[in-house]
Amino acid sequence: MAHAPTPELGTWPRLVGWLSAAGQGLLDLLYPPRCAGCGRVGALFCAACQAQIEPLPAPACPRCGHPALIAELCPTCRGIPSHLDAITATAIFAHPLRDAIHALKYDNAASLAGPLGARMADTWRAARLSADLIVPVPLHRARLAERGYNQSALLARVLSRSVGVPVDERILVRERATAHQVGLGRSERQVNVAGAFACRRDLSGQRVAVLDDVCTTGSTLEACAEALRTAGASSVWAFTLARARWAPGQTTAPDALTP
Ligand SMILES: [Zn+2]
Ligand SMILES: [Zn+2]
Repeated sequence: MAHAPTPELGTWPRLVGWLSAAGQGLLDLLYPPRCAGCGRVGALFCAACQAQIEPLPAPACPRCGHPALIAELCPTCRGIPSHLDAITATAIFAHPLRDAIHALKYDNAASLAGPLGARMADTWRAARLSADLIVPVPLHRARLAERGYNQSALLARVLSRSVGVPVDERILVRERATAHQVGLGRSERQVNVAGAFACRRDLSGQRVAVLDDVCTTGSTLEACAEALRTAGASSVWAFTLARARWAPGQTTAPDALTP
């Protein structure tokens, strides 16, 4: 007696994969991706725009990013105690990366976390960075509810998968809502975020990388690092997609950084 043919093992996963690819293809046809940098249709962040991203000056002070002859703490940073060992970024905060970060934060373009997180992973490997744990800077729950996602956590997930270092999105909490930092000077920013963060578990002996999308004066990263150190972290360094540029001729501390 003949039996009805049974589907081969693996048919369903293949079918689901095909339908999912077809669904994505259909979505791309209906809503073709537009480059966050130049607006051209075809990619979320096109290769031509990525090639225009402005690299950081090197060598530079590892904390404030001031161009230097050798990569060691500049005289100003040596005089300011910090909980951060260093602040590392992938590039200068300027067009077209600035536009891509803006889209990631404000245009609900969470899918941009893919190419932008991959950029952070490339820098991580090239600079041989290392940590036991990646901790994204948290949003206050009111802002999280408003935006629907934490852009730093999205970047941290992509980076974590790529470099194989675990990420903890819950360990650090923003205990009070803080005013937007845009338009505030360095000392105002420090007051605005001081004591805003708390760490919810013991981090004894852990080397932590605290991750954010942009570093302007470093005040937010410093406040996060203080909470992580209080929880026992043996070292804390910051990793951001972009950091503000030093103005030409600028010789003072990060006060005068232009966003
Ligand atoms: Zn482009
Ligand atoms: Zn410095």
